[in-house]
Amino acid sequence: MLERGVRKYALSLESNNMNLLMNQALGNRYFSNSQKIRAISESWVTSEGFCPVCGGQLQQSQNNSKVLDFLCKNCPEEYELKSKAGKFARKVTDGAFDSMMSRIAVPNSPHFFFLGYDQASYSVKNFFVVPSYFFQASVIEKRKPLALTARRAGWTGCNILLDQIPDAGKIHYVSNGCKVKAESVLSAWRKTAFIGKAGSIESRGWMLDVLACIEKIKQNEFSLDEIYKFESELSLRHPGNNFVKDKIRQQLQVLRDKGFLEFMGRGTYKLAQRHV
Ligand SMILES: [Zn+2]
Repeated sequence: MLERGVRKYALSLESNNMNLLMNQALGNRYFSNSQKIRAISESWVTSEGFCPVCGGQLQQSQNNSKVLDFLCKNCPEEYELKSKAGKFARKVTDGAFDSMMSRIAVPNSPHFFFLGYDQASYSVKNFFVVPSYFFQASVIEKRKPLALTARRAGWTGCNILLDQIPDAGKIHYVSNGCKVKAESVLSAWRKTAFIGKAGSIESRGWMLDVLACIEKIKQNEFSLDEIYKFESELSLRHPGNNFVKDKIRQQLQVLRDKGFLEFMGRGTYKLAQRHV
């Protein structure tokens, strides 16, 4: 149960009164554009955002760590922020490839906030959070190492492939300029929490991959045969597994048990209403 003070805060969120306009003046004391944006967007997330796990308030991290921007005041969750003028494309540039790969292998690594804003008005157009357990190796793309002539020669960065993350893992607070109710943010997060509790990276990967296949079908109802069409794609992702169809059926059962799907009988499945 939430503590009394936090509950009061969470209840005020139900009125959905996020102010989408960021305070540009906060960037005035910085010369570099990236520092300006960082100051402006971090301030906005602190005052208007909230922890999607418990509804608690966020505070900026004090330890200057590059991968940790916010802490929840009420629970142990941590967040990193990526901001961008305009819409996020399918690829988002991130830091060092090796540190990202070791980070995704660790449970409880920080979750990602993505904030897209209108460059002219500094108003927030899209703001969403991706739980850390939606990150797996196939979401991270290795970039070319920097040329030998570069200051950091040989350094290798990475891209986050947003289109490889199932939509269920992009939990919006603001979508195309429209605010989403706070309770919807919290419930969308809760629905995905079981993925974070998967025993191993491998079993988590299977859940995410089957979930992504279901979303690609883009229908509320689908058949087992339609999912089986992804068999070869899934075999490539999981080369050690010779029983891909069995694995698919097992994951469908997990998704049913967790309330994502309903079984309609005779190999037909339906997305649960609360997932749509
Ligand atoms: Zn929290």
